[in-house]
Amino acid sequence: MKYVTEYRDAKLVQGVIEEIKRIVTRQWVIMEICGGQTHAIVRHGIDQLLPKEIELVHGPGCPVCVTPLELIDKALAIASRSDVIFTSYGDMLRVPGSGRDLFSVRASGGDVRVVYSPLDAVKIAQQNPDKQVVFFAIGFETTAPPNVMSVMQAKQLGVKNYSVLVSHVCVPPAMHAILGSPSNRVQGFLLAGHVCAVMGYWEYPPLAKKYGVPMAVTGFEPLDIAQGILTVTRALEEGRIEVENAYPRTVTFDGNKPAQQMIDKVFMQCDRKWRGIGAIPMSGWCLRPEFAAFNAEKRFDVGEIQTNESPLCIAGKILQGLSKPHDCSAFGTQCTPERPLGATMVSAEGACAAYYKYGRHEIA
Ligand code: SF4
Repeated sequence: MKYVTEYRDAKLVQGVIEEIKRIVTRQWVIMEICGGQTHAIVRHGIDQLLPKEIELVHGPGCPVCVTPLELIDKALAIASRSDVIFTSYGDMLRVPGSGRDLFSVRASGGDVRVVYSPLDAVKIAQQNPDKQVVFFAIGFETTAPPNVMSVMQAKQLGVKNYSVLVSHVCVPPAMHAILGSPSNRVQGFLLAGHVCAVMGYWEYPPLAKKYGVPMAVTGFEPLDIAQGILTVTRALEEGRIEVENAYPRTVTFDGNKPAQQMIDKVFMQCDRKWRGIGAIPMSGWCLRPEFAAFNAEKRFDVGEIQTNESPLCIAGKILQGLSKPHDCSAFGTQCTPERPLGATMVSAEGACAAYYKYGRHEIA
């Protein structure tokens, strides 16, 4: 197969679904880690095509959703400064902090700009030497390479007015936290294909073995997702605890080694808070001491931050596969994409946004 349309062929997808129906004998709970996969599943109705024995639950792989509230509030404080041009991917602008978002900072006169790459932010810094330019460097392993590249480039070019506000998180520690929780329901995982394209999947076999949970590296088109579910279901039914690659056209076991080396040069592992979930030890990346000059948190003293999360929001439970968006009393009423109470209603990868966009207002 060469073309994306073939991965959206309804007949081929139906064939894989029929095979899942044929082999399944009991109830299984499978988590898709990535919010991009959640959107594809809901958009194409894949969960509704599956036999009732397979329940899909949605994972924490939505970078915008898990960026801690404290850091969003820090971003808002930094972006409000008159000497700062604050740059970010577009998704972050509508994410609610404790009372406002980056859009409202822009509306009150803050210089907040959307960029498609952090390298554009470095260019903005070069063009505006009298301003401090900050890039909101959030995300999982997928966005780490361009973010570290921007820091390396700024260092190489001597761009001293560029810094990054880092909130990088990593998938394996989050899976460890989910699987190690007494309330865990997840029995199999669809791994995020784009994360594995960068990192490979060599980190996952020890996790699979430790918790007795099979996993499949999975892509993003309907056929990829159906294939990933079939791979995990087959392993569950056969009692095999393996990590299999259902996305071989993009992912190799080792991943992109030069990218991994570059990440390792600039970032080191650190503890990270996940919005709605809490602190997970060694679950993130932060700048190494030799790149501390590019750390926006050190460059700007924003005083003490008092956070204020909506008491109605159950996004943390949704991100751990313990609840679905329509279990939230605010879903579609007090909380909508126009007036979001939580980040999962804003992000293009958020489960609440997917359920809202594709009309999943009722419990299926
Ligand atoms: S619907 Fe809104 S308030 Fe409820 S969990 Fe989702 S983001 Fe939070």
